[in-house]
Amino acid sequence: MLDIEAELERSPASVNALKVVKRLTSEGFEAYLVGGCVRDLMLGKSPKDYDVATNAHPEEVKDLFRNSRLIGRRFKIVHVRYGREIIEVTTFRAPHSELENEEQSSDSGQLLTDNIYGDFEEDVYRRDFTMNALYYDADLRHVEDLVDGTADIEAKKIRLIGDPEKRFREDPVRMLRAIRFRAKLGFDIEPKTAKPIKKFGFLLGNIPPARLFEEVLKLFLSGHAENSFDALIEYDLFGWLFPDSQQCFDNPKAVALIRLALQSTDRRISNDQPVTPAFIFAALLWYPFINEREKLLQGGMPAMPAFHEAAGNIVARQQHVTSIPKRFSGPMRDIWQIQGRLPQTGGKKPAVLRSHKRFRAAYDFLLLREESGEMLDDIGKWWTQYQLDNPVEAGTTSQRQPEPEKRRKRRRRPRKKTAPPE
Ligand code: ATP
Ligand code: MG
Repeated sequence: MLDIEAELERSPASVNALKVVKRLTSEGFEAYLVGGCVRDLMLGKSPKDYDVATNAHPEEVKDLFRNSRLIGRRFKIVHVRYGREIIEVTTFRAPHSELENEEQSSDSGQLLTDNIYGDFEEDVYRRDFTMNALYYDADLRHVEDLVDGTADIEAKKIRLIGDPEKRFREDPVRMLRAIRFRAKLGFDIEPKTAKPIKKFGFLLGNIPPARLFEEVLKLFLSGHAENSFDALIEYDLFGWLFPDSQQCFDNPKAVALIRLALQSTDRRISNDQPVTPAFIFAALLWYPFINEREKLLQGGMPAMPAFHEAAGNIVARQQHVTSIPKRFSGPMRDIWQIQGRLPQTGGKKPAVLRSHKRFRAAYDFLLLREESGEMLDDIGKWWTQYQLDNPVEAGTTSQRQPEPEKRRKRRRRPRKKTAPPE
């Protein structure tokens, strides 16, 4: 286990979080660093962000910091801003178990409200996993650990606090959080925590689509998308998030395409390149879209309307589970639509297509389709060569040079068994 003091010193971003804690304690409040930042510091990882827990009420916190604002509807928290950094300050809340009554939980046991303030100890037990319930006391320079979270971090175990079934029913998103931490940290989900997950996937149906969309982004856009995908499949949760995609899994190319898109996303994140949910959703929903379009074509619908109707139907169905904001569904449909234009390589068409703002993403998508086993007459190679032969000048829409195929191949990680080549 690492020395948290030394890690805090090595982590310049912690300065502001500690400033917030010290301001609160100097005013006589209790305040701690808590959650993912303490966990990550103990693991020697630099925290993504810092959370502070305090017994000061949100309005009291707000009054202490000019650079702060109150946010949240379900429960109020305070964001204290330092430049681009935001420190989230949360008031101690009571544990879920003591809140349960008919008004506060639904038939499935899901909590409908948890905006009741509590004391330090109560706040500990309302948290999800033991590794997330460690509190760093900056005055005493000491980690308060009432749930053996330190031992679980040492043993690399993800363990829910309290009775797993009850805690998953209270908030089914905790199942996705368990998956995410498994993928991100490489920890095991300890058996009692793991046991209910496979049978509780249906509970995700009670979660608002906007919240599930946010969770999907955290799973797939944090640099460990492929691990998250594997863990979602292992725990039978993938199909509850992407039912239409799962329906296509008897086609190995569908799985291979998703896996390749997730690998490419992970690689781009580790290279500090931009990534977009549009690309991932394009891959996740490609086969549902293709099958839907095929059905409409078979029914006699002409190509253009069939494209639009199929894309619309698939997006609408997915929106019942995870929302897809228009700013992502639009580009996703562009990527799909350009797939139909990429085989047209005669005359001026390639030059026109290349100036499309989504050309590059669509070209990358085409390469993944080919790599996943779709037979497309080597048009990917044709477009790679076309771009090398016709470099675009800086300042125009498509500026980036394609990577020559050889370099792409060398960088790629070996395929896993579940993505069999055809
Ligand atoms: P990350 O590194 O992804 O930020 P994190 O553990 O900090 O991980 P957050 O979503 O930032 O995750 O949440 C901060 C803390 O709030 C968690 O560590 C946990 O203690 C608590 N928490 C978050 N979501 C839940 C939940 N659904 N149920 C109970 N506690 C939660
Ligand atoms: Mg966090």
